[in-house]
Amino acid sequence: MLLHFIFLVTKEDLESRAKEFEYVEQMAQFYKKWIKDTFSLEYDVKCDQMIVPKQSLIRRLDTAVLVEDHKSRDNDTFHFYLANFRPMWTDCTCEGYYAENFAMVLWVKPKEDEFLSMCQKNCSVVSHEISHELLRQKKSKKQYEMVHDVWSKHLFKDLPFEQYGKNSERNTSQPYFMTLDASELRS
Ligand SMILES: [Zn+2]
Repeated sequence: MLLHFIFLVTKEDLESRAKEFEYVEQMAQFYKKWIKDTFSLEYDVKCDQMIVPKQSLIRRLDTAVLVEDHKSRDNDTFHFYLANFRPMWTDCTCEGYYAENFAMVLWVKPKEDEFLSMCQKNCSVVSHEISHELLRQKKSKKQYEMVHDVWSKHLFKDLPFEQYGKNSERNTSQPYFMTLDASELRS
């Protein structure tokens, strides 16, 4: 099974966001391990950039375009789009969306002086959508409620996110990646 991350970037930003794509590549490797530890699933991971036009009123990308892109590539691969726009419509309590073997999130472009903390925040939203889709694949009946229950505890009850170091091990002193608290989702 393959999880393929696709980072949407405009041609103008390709160079200036190279550091961010580097983070995405490391994050992909992190998720390979996290998925194995959390859901006992073996995934290979892959990362790519997709050059997209600037969002404008006339040329607006939306979720449907990404779903089409996913289908045109390979239905059997789990494509995860790190997009430069938010889903127009979603059931989720974060700025993400998922469907069969498909997920997308708004990947917020980090500010220079908040690079790591903003990447970590993006990373946590990725874990929200991965959890939905993998639990759905595992036929977990209450997955939708379970993920949103944990997410609201993060947002409203000060439940801390899980923190991991660059080596993908739990690490609260030098966190590099951040996910939702998966203690109740583990299988
Ligand atoms: Zn959700």
